[in-house]
Amino acid sequence: MLLTVSTTHKPATDLGFLLHKHPDRVQEFKQSFGTATVFYPEATEERCTVALMLTVDPVRLARSRAKNAPDFSLAQYVNDRSYAASSLLGVAMADVFSTARSGRCNANQDLADSAIPLEIEIPVLPCRGGATIAHRVFEPLGWAVEAEPIALDHAFAEWGDSRYIRLRLTGEVRLADALSQLHVLLPVLDESKHYWQGPDEVDKLMRSGEGWLASHPDKDLITRRYLARTAGLTRVALARLAELGDEVETAIEPADDEEVLQPEEKRIPLNAQRHDAVYEVLLELGARSVIDLGCGPGQFMERLMKTSSFTRVAGSDVSTRSLQHAARRLYVDQMSERQSERVDLFQGALTYEDERYAGFDAAVLMEVIEHVDPPRLEALEHVVFSAAKPRAVIVTTPNCEYNVLYETLVGRRHPDHRFEWTREQFAEWSDRVAQTHGYAVERRGIGDLDETFGTPTQMAIFTKAGGSDD
Ligand code: SAH
Repeated sequence: MLLTVSTTHKPATDLGFLLHKHPDRVQEFKQSFGTATVFYPEATEERCTVALMLTVDPVRLARSRAKNAPDFSLAQYVNDRSYAASSLLGVAMADVFSTARSGRCNANQDLADSAIPLEIEIPVLPCRGGATIAHRVFEPLGWAVEAEPIALDHAFAEWGDSRYIRLRLTGEVRLADALSQLHVLLPVLDESKHYWQGPDEVDKLMRSGEGWLASHPDKDLITRRYLARTAGLTRVALARLAELGDEVETAIEPADDEEVLQPEEKRIPLNAQRHDAVYEVLLELGARSVIDLGCGPGQFMERLMKTSSFTRVAGSDVSTRSLQHAARRLYVDQMSERQSERVDLFQGALTYEDERYAGFDAAVLMEVIEHVDPPRLEALEHVVFSAAKPRAVIVTTPNCEYNVLYETLVGRRHPDHRFEWTREQFAEWSDRVAQTHGYAVERRGIGDLDETFGTPTQMAIFTKAGGSDD
């Protein structure tokens, strides 16, 4: 089975850098089910084509199946797997081009970040539901799609078409996105995933679908088919996507407009005071690895990066737009390898467990909880305090009692705030969370203290009771 990717971006041979595969070499990569070979049938300044050829060994494939796989028939040895592109090709592609798929390219990060003219061709692709499905799944992603049904037998036209198509996609797309889309959509068209589905399939789908799946008009069909119609997993995935999809409408910038509301004599913006306060607490706690949950456009991460005692700094947000800002602010694309090992930025909703949240000394939730719908807050509590369970969690949120001092303010401080709490409400919440999840909690105010109304921002510092966990 074969897949080719061509570009006419000049110089076209840069494709070799993007894929981390030299155009002059033929390279082989062993897979559990056969061998993947990468070579370049053409490599000129004007046009460059890489081919990924996969030879499947049906015996190895049968052996690589999980023991509980349902298929014990001869069909596991005699099938189309060796000839038709399929989910196996998607798997091999993900393996062989893993760095390209992550979008990293030290030699030319600008190019890796850019949409470039691409042509992708798969001569034989099983496509359940016919060519229309191929149009439906690829066109909304900006591809021009040619999907030509392949006759069952050219000698017998009356037998009609087979379930295979020849697929050709052309478009201006970032190479990493194209590879991620193929990784998800090849098995979707094939619809006979060769391996058993585990719960981590949902995580994989979320990662590969980042930035495009949540807003895809056929996300239901794609998710259902990708997860091989496993109803439970599909439900989880669709709920997670819905949460990410929301972001398109409600994407917001952080609460900078609060500054406009500040009484004039205040010179240090509240935003900066918050950063100072949380930063101080992180130093007090001796945290070395920190994750900024709901990092927005990355101002606080930037601050952390400047201090070398923070050996790992991660940030996550539900908003891709904010993450793009953060990546630019932190110069992620110009980092040395050592620096980029220190930092990680990724998309995620805080109401769903994600293993990437785990393993940090401290997690920061700065002005984030008030953006979460109250009925979903418990899910966030579980994800942060029970699943990720860092040694310390620092939460800041507005104190709504203080709002009366903002003369021009009507209602809440930001249109996306789902609630704003009094000091008593925040105390009640943080005490309950601490008690439920085995943390001690201390509260402090941030910003100028008013005798009656307290400080504009309130902070809770949770530390794991009994020191380090497991
Ligand atoms: N912490 C930053 C940004 C605060 S604005 C700062 O203090 O400047 C709130 C941020 O939380 C936004 O970037 C928003 O996209 C993010 N956010 C809101 N709900 C979220 C959720 N459920 N999961 C992850 N991030 C979320």
